[in-house]
Amino acid sequence: MHGEELRYITEAYESNWMSTVGENINEVERMTCEKVGCKYAVALSAGTAALHLSVKLAGVKPGDKVFCSDMTFGATVNPVVYEGGEPVFIDTERDTWNMDPVALEKAFELYPEVKVVVLVHLYGTPAKVDQIRAICDKHGAVLIEDAAESLGATYKGHQTGTFGSYRAISFNGNKIITGSSGGMLLTDDVHAANKARKWSTQSRENAPWYQHEELGYNYRMSNVIAGVVRGQYPHLEEHIAQKKAIYMRYKEGFKDLPVTMNPYDEANSEPNFWLSCLLINQEAMCRQVRGEQEALYISEPGKSCPTEILEKLAQYNAEGRPIWKPMHMQPIYRMHAFVTREGNGRASTNAYIAGGGVDVGMDIFERGLCLPSDNKMTEEEQNRVIEIVKSCFC
Ligand SMILES: *Cc1c(COP(=O)(O)O)cnc(C)c1O
Repeated sequence: MHGEELRYITEAYESNWMSTVGENINEVERMTCEKVGCKYAVALSAGTAALHLSVKLAGVKPGDKVFCSDMTFGATVNPVVYEGGEPVFIDTERDTWNMDPVALEKAFELYPEVKVVVLVHLYGTPAKVDQIRAICDKHGAVLIEDAAESLGATYKGHQTGTFGSYRAISFNGNKIITGSSGGMLLTDDVHAANKARKWSTQSRENAPWYQHEELGYNYRMSNVIAGVVRGQYPHLEEHIAQKKAIYMRYKEGFKDLPVTMNPYDEANSEPNFWLSCLLINQEAMCRQVRGEQEALYISEPGKSCPTEILEKLAQYNAEGRPIWKPMHMQPIYRMHAFVTREGNGRASTNAYIAGGGVDVGMDIFERGLCLPSDNKMTEEEQNRVIEIVKSCFC
């Protein structure tokens, strides 16, 4: 928080515009269009709400299969199920840890009837979105972009959140800028924007009484929340610079360890560096076994594993996290199809193939972890984190 947030919340309070109408909402919609470069922004209660309305706008009907990023937060894919759709998970590529265009092309061979694709830019790193979009165009599919983690990141000079027909951003408490909660649906289609605005405010028709022709939702952003977002926006670039400095210090600090940082396309993209992650080289992995709820490992000299590093960090009160566990390995989605670049559309029960193999997402989950990445973290604190990680490989 920087101070301006309080000013805009106070304005909402003093003018009594404490609900889902007001100057802060209008302003954050305007600021978002200006920053991202989209025509319309609809302020909502959450990024998940934006994804839900995107799925509705894309026309997903009960029983429709939808291609989805696999290694992501559940909120990317759950909205497909809210509409009765059936997510089909597309494996991850190693260059950006996002949806693999090769696997997506294979998926269209297996399921040519699919008309909607949901793509995430994970950890603030842009996906290979021009390739993904070209494949969608070729097959007449609508692209939904989940830019919840990537606000401010660019791909070939364009902001993430400008590539899909419908795009979601988030102002949840953990994102690059926050409203404490909140999200937005972005589009260049005026009819879609009007629909989303109407659906999000209980689908009232233009009548003197409450007249309803369509199903409605209570998804509009509050003017108080919008005040927080409004105060944060001027600090977006500063947050990105802080996050990038954190990423670069880790990269430098780990250069002699058998690890790599979460990768990005340095020629074509500029991430927002929302989270710094590391990946342990295969040969430097000690033995680690993960069940559904707990993990075990055997410590070995010169080797480590995510479980050991996360436990060690926790001992020092520093919080790391595992990588997002792939959706195809989640019990709730276990029987859904999962497509790898080899093109097998299997339901996966034991998809991890040791040593890399074909299941890229599961391999990154096994060997990767999210490092403490808060922008308030001091250089001294970060240096301690680096020393703790180094000690795990002794
Ligand atoms: C945070 C997040 C969401 C959901 O946003 P909320 O505002 O928390 O509903 C969706 N997708 C991804 C990848 C996220 O990180």
